[in-house]
Amino acid sequence: MAIGTKQRIASTRVRNVIIALVARLVTRIKCLPTKDRLATIGGMQLPLGPDPRTEKLRQTQAALIDRFGRIVRPPDKRRDPVWVLVHGVIGAQTKTAASNASTDALIDEFGSWEEVATVPVEGLEARLRRQTFPSVAAERLKACLNAIIAERGSVDLRHLSNCDTAVAMAWLETLPGVARKISAGVMNASTFERKAMVIDGHHRRIMQRMGMVASKADTARAYDALMPVVPQEWSAADIDEHHLLLKKLGQTFCRPRKTQCDGCPVKADCETGSTRAG
Ligand code: SF4
Repeated sequence: MAIGTKQRIASTRVRNVIIALVARLVTRIKCLPTKDRLATIGGMQLPLGPDPRTEKLRQTQAALIDRFGRIVRPPDKRRDPVWVLVHGVIGAQTKTAASNASTDALIDEFGSWEEVATVPVEGLEARLRRQTFPSVAAERLKACLNAIIAERGSVDLRHLSNCDTAVAMAWLETLPGVARKISAGVMNASTFERKAMVIDGHHRRIMQRMGMVASKADTARAYDALMPVVPQEWSAADIDEHHLLLKKLGQTFCRPRKTQCDGCPVKADCETGSTRAG
């Protein structure tokens, strides 16, 4: 690729990252009550007293561990950031085990993500049959890998290890097929092990029902509302465990169409549960 073209792509990417960061700041400010908005716009966030949601998150974590036990990701399951990115890009509406198998099979067969990027979409689709939407997964994966190669020269995310987490996530979200859940996953669940909350459908639904985020909050809004109230003492591994515990709750008591509020371990802290039986 000509140097001029590379520079244009790089400067476009930088511009997109800046736009994404500004948009995120505006969204975060819009989500705040007016008094907090003024404090934020005036410069650094002023100390306005603890947000009650922080204590609720602590209580939720304790109640879930009490009910389900610890769900800690073993060190050998903390994968390379590119592996986690690929897993997320192909993983829409697909069970984790299937996406794990597809991601491992791709790298085992081709040996490098640069080789995977050269495979025609039809070839990728044939290899992604375990996924719920193989053709979408194939197109997104090829576009994503080639966008990284166009900018970095290879499929390599090591440059993000030098970035602030928000900057790294904004960069990731400029890639085709990458939104907040995947960018947070790359930063939190990979060997980067950063403080970023992965919010999938289960997690978002429970936070909405509990009244921790707005009832119509999408993933990015839920993330922007929750990250500032995460207990300071939580490590990246604690945030990861929080997500895995909520996922378990979403598969058992707080299912999409049917809730089982009686007996739910977080009922005492849940706005919906406290007004509903069964
Ligand atoms: S109390 Fe009910 S609505 Fe609230 S988290 Fe539990 S199951 Fe879901």
